[in-house]
Amino acid sequence: MVAEYDGFEPVIGLEVHAQLQTNSKIFCGCRVQYGAEPNSLTCPVCLGLPGALPVLNKKAVEYAMRMILAIGGSVRNESVFARKNYFYPDLPKGYQISQFDKPVGEGGAIEFTLDDHRKSVGLIRIHLEEDAGKSLHPESGEPYTQVDLNRCGTPLIEIVSHPDIRSPREAYAYLVKLKQTLQYLDVCTGDMEKGHLRCDANVSVRPIGSETFGTRTELKNLNSFKHVEKALEYEINRQINLIKSGGAVEQTTLLWNEKSQTAEMMRSKEESHDYRYFPEPDLVTLQVDNDWIARVRADLPELAEARATRFVSQYGIREYDAAVLTDTRSLADYFESVMSEFDDGQAAANWIGTELLAAVKDAGVEIGDYHVKPNHIADLLKRVKSGQISGKIAKDVFAEMVVSGDAPASIIKKKGLEQISDNSVLEPIIERLLDANPDNVAKYRSGKTNVFGFFVGQVMKETRGQANPTMVNELLKKKLDG
Ligand SMILES: [Zn+2]
Repeated sequence: MVAEYDGFEPVIGLEVHAQLQTNSKIFCGCRVQYGAEPNSLTCPVCLGLPGALPVLNKKAVEYAMRMILAIGGSVRNESVFARKNYFYPDLPKGYQISQFDKPVGEGGAIEFTLDDHRKSVGLIRIHLEEDAGKSLHPESGEPYTQVDLNRCGTPLIEIVSHPDIRSPREAYAYLVKLKQTLQYLDVCTGDMEKGHLRCDANVSVRPIGSETFGTRTELKNLNSFKHVEKALEYEINRQINLIKSGGAVEQTTLLWNEKSQTAEMMRSKEESHDYRYFPEPDLVTLQVDNDWIARVRADLPELAEARATRFVSQYGIREYDAAVLTDTRSLADYFESVMSEFDDGQAAANWIGTELLAAVKDAGVEIGDYHVKPNHIADLLKRVKSGQISGKIAKDVFAEMVVSGDAPASIIKKKGLEQISDNSVLEPIIERLLDANPDNVAKYRSGKTNVFGFFVGQVMKETRGQANPTMVNELLKKKLDG
């Protein structure tokens, strides 16, 4: 599938940095925590003080392995940490410990469906590295910058794709799938606002049919997937216009400016780096044996697409609903919790996909933290299925569950909402109605049977919607026809 760009096609590769959600940092025991008091989570190792020695966090390696194996990549039995040298205020050591020519993971692919088209984007590598600190520029414009080194040494994986992406929309879909996979694996929260997931993009254009690559530029400062899509669109059009007007694209780094919706060239001294990589002398070669790889592989959870396929066959729900319900692992878990106590998959999917998700969205929380628990939803659905309450009343009960957090049974009892399925209650109501409306009874009996609906409506009104509709229909027919 080729996007429409005036005879040109974009060639896009993405580099994603994902913070691993370990408790402690990658080379020291300092806690990893977002939003802590600045510079409160540091030690001689992550501050890069002379003589401090790094010790590798095994959990960080395991999280990287999870991602590599989940996307079909291979974990190297031996990988090497390297120093990437550059000077920046938020990097106290003057170098970042990363991996260079022997990364922990190679190969694999992220696969996704876009417009009914199956796309596979190959990965070059996944490597482990440490995060830098954060520079804080005062908004009031004071002539200084503060630095918070809490983030120094937070474990990252960098996921580098082949330039297989051919449109900004594909880039967006790739990122959505990547984030979903990281979240399913419980290795990264994927929260871009907190910087847990960050993305840089390489982009060039070439005439459709060409096999060679054009000169590429690098886009940085992309703070959301939407920004990635917009920045790519901007940069693709800029490059095409430049080439069409006889110019040439220069290899450079651009910063996306969300306010002006343009990409600005970084100053020339920051354009190219000579990182002078060399093997980190304070760390031994990372050895990963095949037993360890096998153990991590065996522990991989079922991912979203596999789970959606299973939902369709196991619970008999529609494919669309299965995709909605497996969007996040916690939502899929919620659905399966409901299904452990209820047997109508489609009814549960309908409820969770509409009423529940709307309420969760209103509350602005994650479904896993929502106060209305799956057992209460299962209980409510069972009461609808058995006819104890109508679907309409169920919505009222649910609204009350959202407010009070009470169980359906106590709400139904407290508010007297049980469905009336008792002939001895319904019959007198119907008889009274027929007596009070002789004209309509006569109409019905003369063949104008459309007044039947009028009587049903009156019974429902009298019973505040609680009369069992099937029984009301039967009783009314009997009385009117008899
Ligand atoms: Zn530390």
